[in-house]
Amino acid sequence: MRLKDKVAIVTGGAHGMGEAEVRLFAEQGAAVVIADLLDKEGEAVAADINAGQGRARFVRTDVTSEADWQRLIAETVATYGKLDILVNNAGISGSAVGDVDLLAGWQRIMNVNATSVFLGTKHAAAAMAKAGRGSIVNISSIMGFVGSEDSHPGYAASKGAVRIYTKAAAAKYGPMGIRVNSVHPGFMPPMLNATNQAGRASKIAATPLRRLGEPIEVAYGVLFLASDEASFVTGTELVIDGGYIAQ
Ligand code: NAD
Repeated sequence: MRLKDKVAIVTGGAHGMGEAEVRLFAEQGAAVVIADLLDKEGEAVAADINAGQGRARFVRTDVTSEADWQRLIAETVATYGKLDILVNNAGISGSAVGDVDLLAGWQRIMNVNATSVFLGTKHAAAAMAKAGRGSIVNISSIMGFVGSEDSHPGYAASKGAVRIYTKAAAAKYGPMGIRVNSVHPGFMPPMLNATNQAGRASKIAATPLRRLGEPIEVAYGVLFLASDEASFVTGTELVIDGGYIAQ
């Protein structure tokens, strides 16, 4: 068990890649708190894990709310006694905020995808510092490295912010024993379900491995960074993209 006796929070853990991370972490021995807005899905994932060998609970959380973060971390520590791992995975795609030129859309996507990571890291690090150890994994994107004509510029800006904030946080929290790393998935099914078949085909064609990724392929990378196997890894970028940005 690679996360035996660890306590983890995964934001956006009720669906998509976050759900894959929650299930893998639970299989690997962690108690997992699913922090999401989706009550029904989050409760169902937690119930499924608890019906098996695992430990999980759902805490309704809006990652843009500082009060929700404070409550989430307090409830996690009250339930499981500590916090070892935070995965800042919750996010929205450009299609969720409409017209790419609207200021409100830019602000919304920055808030959900980037400001949430600052809030989560700040509050998780305060809890982890008491134990003198912890691992924070921030989910960025290939769009944190490169732009794309058919992607919302605010999405790329938000993921670029996550990438560099991760390094600043690694420098700030390293002396407290807290590691902070970013993961950069390529094109994956969950968010792409919202795009049309032509968009899907062009993304497959642009990926050297000629397919979309699977959530579990990202989850294994997140697991490594979250675990003690990565005990000397901080401030780094793990790209899991089928080769998209290698070209
Ligand atoms: P998804 O839409 O399946 O899951 C995102 C989850 O985040 C959902 O459960 C949603 O309810 C939750 N969420 C959204 N806003 C929230 C908020 N304010 N508070 C709490 N929870 C909230 O998406 P996914 O494809 O699994 O994406 C997960 C992460 O990976 C995102 O950060 C995304 O930007 C990133 N990513 C996705 C892809 C892709 O192609 N799917 C590629 C690179 C990076």
